[in-house]
Amino acid sequence: MAERLMGDSVESDICIIGAGPAGLSAAVAALERASSVTVVDENVHPGGQIWRHDQIKGENPELRVLMNRLPRERVNLISSATVIAAPAKGRLIAETPHGATPISYQRLILATGARERFLPFPGWTLQNVTGVGGLQALVKGGLKIADQRIVIAGSGPLLLAVAAYLKQVGARVVLIAEQAPRRRLIRFGLSLFSNPARLGQALTLKRQLSGIPYLTDCYPVAADGEDKVRRVILQQGAKIWQVECDYFACSFHLLPNLELASLLNCGIEAGRVVVDNSQRTSEPDIYSAGEATGVGGLELSILEGRIAGYMASGNLPGAARLFRRRDRARRFARLLDQTFASTAVLRELPSDQTIVCRCEDVALGSLREHRSWKAAKLQSRCGMGPCQGRICGPAVEMLLGWQPDSVRPPALAARLDTLLLTAELAEGQNTQEWSKE
Ligand SMILES: Cc1cc2nc3c(=O)[nH]c(=O)nc-3n(C[C@H](O)[C@H](O)[C@H](O)COP(=O)(O)OP(=O)(O)OC[C@H]3O[C@@H](n4cnc5c(N)ncnc54)[C@H](O)[C@@H]3O)c2cc1C
Repeated sequence: MAERLMGDSVESDICIIGAGPAGLSAAVAALERASSVTVVDENVHPGGQIWRHDQIKGENPELRVLMNRLPRERVNLISSATVIAAPAKGRLIAETPHGATPISYQRLILATGARERFLPFPGWTLQNVTGVGGLQALVKGGLKIADQRIVIAGSGPLLLAVAAYLKQVGARVVLIAEQAPRRRLIRFGLSLFSNPARLGQALTLKRQLSGIPYLTDCYPVAADGEDKVRRVILQQGAKIWQVECDYFACSFHLLPNLELASLLNCGIEAGRVVVDNSQRTSEPDIYSAGEATGVGGLELSILEGRIAGYMASGNLPGAARLFRRRDRARRFARLLDQTFASTAVLRELPSDQTIVCRCEDVALGSLREHRSWKAAKLQSRCGMGPCQGRICGPAVEMLLGWQPDSVRPPALAARLDTLLLTAELAEGQNTQEWSKE
């Protein structure tokens, strides 16, 4: 696959946003019939959340197999490119280090994945308090973690996967605190017996994590320390106690990335892109696959990606062969959602002084003075910083019940030159840009 950074315009039969497992699987499937496929990803390396760090060392076999099936003369991978706007039907603008890049497509596949969900508690902005996947990414990126004491808290299977990784690289994982109630986890564990592959993965994790306490119904009340985090205060039932640590990794399951789908008017329900049996969204010629359509793990992302790739390239039989396996994997996704749903007690964690919007330093108390997202944004700048509400938005929704505003371009923070080109293209003043190669 040809990998390049660029600012020239791009035309493609099928354009895929996201080079994670879903996007790359979609590209492989689409190539069986499509004449040209473009894959756009904001990261330097393809592979998405789970594999992109391995791409540097070329060590993940699943990623290697997928990449080998994407010949460079037929697939255009645009790295370090963030799609931020959709000024007209069939057209997108991506921001790259070399300038804004207009992209034209016949059919689009949104494989934009998910991100960690953060909920505020006193001390969550201290140094060395990170997301769970965030800490893993830092370590894969070179952070030395050997012999450091780590507390992991929040919710979801990611806590276990990251704990196993950190232990393997020499960190001392002190404990894992899962907020979900024990009875839900028992039901989840029992369901694994109907899927030998998943049961095998769970048993491997259990073996890797032996000796590390895994507490259920347990959540962080606060992180504490002067210059950086030194201890975490945890609660389980009526018991409150503190645990010394060097790093505190905390996130509450995952949230689909919906900004682009929203911008393109695709239907969204219950926090995920709505797709039909064929991974089609509510918009003609736009498909979606992977965790943008709901958090369900690697296998589901790959299956949905393949179906979307086949459908977008007109290969219905190819897609239909996968429907049953995809539906089975989706049942597991629903179980994940039910098991790791946040309990109401997490709403009580932040005090009025706790910062909710980390970009603009807005505390919960000052948000309570407003009635809606819009009013709070205009008067406090909550959600107006570089992350554009991607971190504080879901927290505000849970704490105050405010629904997010509709997404307007740019969907993500962008440079001025990108905004200027976007505006010109939207007004049709620069239409020749679309075909300039
Ligand atoms: C932080 C984190 C860490 C994880 N770690 C693990 C793990 O260790 N083990 C495990 O089993 N599972 C892990 N998962 C879950 C795993 O990511 C999923 O199971 C699955 O791989 C999702 O695949 P995907 O292709 O749907 O999404 P992703 O892998 O998330 O890929 C989506 C890609 O789209 C890109 N993108 C999004 N929006 C845009 C845009 N506007 N413009 C350009 N590019 C865009 C993203 O940068 C990303 O590269 C993790 C998830 C997260 C969020």
